[in-house]
Amino acid sequence: SRRDLRAVAELIKSGACKNVVFMVGAGISTAAGIPDFRSPETGLYSNLARLELPRPEAVFDISYFREDPRAFYALAQELWPGKFKPTMTHVFMRMFADRGLLLRCFTQNIDTLELAAGIPRDKIVFAHGSFAGQHCIDCMEEFDRKTLEEHVRSGTPAFCACGGLVKPDITFFGEALPPEFHGSLHLLEEADLAIVMGSSLSVYPFAALPQRIEEGVPRLLMNMEKVGEIGSRRDDVAWIGECDDGVRELAEQLGWWEEME
Ligand code: NAD
Ligand code: ZN
Repeated sequence: SRRDLRAVAELIKSGACKNVVFMVGAGISTAAGIPDFRSPETGLYSNLARLELPRPEAVFDISYFREDPRAFYALAQELWPGKFKPTMTHVFMRMFADRGLLLRCFTQNIDTLELAAGIPRDKIVFAHGSFAGQHCIDCMEEFDRKTLEEHVRSGTPAFCACGGLVKPDITFFGEALPPEFHGSLHLLEEADLAIVMGSSLSVYPFAALPQRIEEGVPRLLMNMEKVGEIGSRRDDVAWIGECDDGVRELAEQLGWWEEME
């Protein structure tokens, strides 16, 4: 039988979940005004037509970036951190950290809204990197933040002293994931609750993280659509809808809501 949100809230209230793991994606930031990738019409990929890319994914492809970095710089202009505020869902995750219940937040997002919400850096795994740093793609030298910001603002690619292109520390297709991703996988075995939100679970290896949660450990999905194999286990809960709504319902049942408003 499936537990519903209330059952998950009861489980948390009972003290049974002290090592909670979140696995999140672009869907938790759409309410902040940042488009996701794959939602039809509103997703980034459907809005990239004007950039004349060979295919939308090329904007995050390292070999295409070497050939023509302008499309990425145009996108970076839109996504550059600072103008967006964390959502209810980000705040909800921070409340687990506040209570000492957050084991890790694995995020595919590069918007750093987790940090903006106040989740401690060491509780976050930026699985696909983030806009928080920037390096030359040839000599790997760190590049000046302010200078890159000026380049992003004007949409003109920045170059290192060595002549190499500068790129924010976002993991592109064709690049290795940050060491912190692989270094944190063992934690999934310690999880006593997994909450998956706002991801199509279509980018590997991240998409396989929920499968690493041990049998018998509840997995809660809060997403606009059913994704992955969450729902196939007895202890799974698949809740379909906007994550801010699901989060609100959970927070009310937990008695955390007043603190969140
Ligand atoms: P995705 O676009 O593939 O999937 C988003 C999922 O979230 C979809 O299943 C969609 O139905 C769901 N969704 C959208 N709005 C929602 C809402 N309000 N509530 C609940 N569910 C909602 O995104 P993904 O799985 O994260 O794709 C992976 C790639 O997208 C990553 O590599 C990531 O770096 C990149 N990305 C990041 C950002 C960001 O940092 N905010 C934005 C776009 C893309
Ligand atoms: Zn260089």
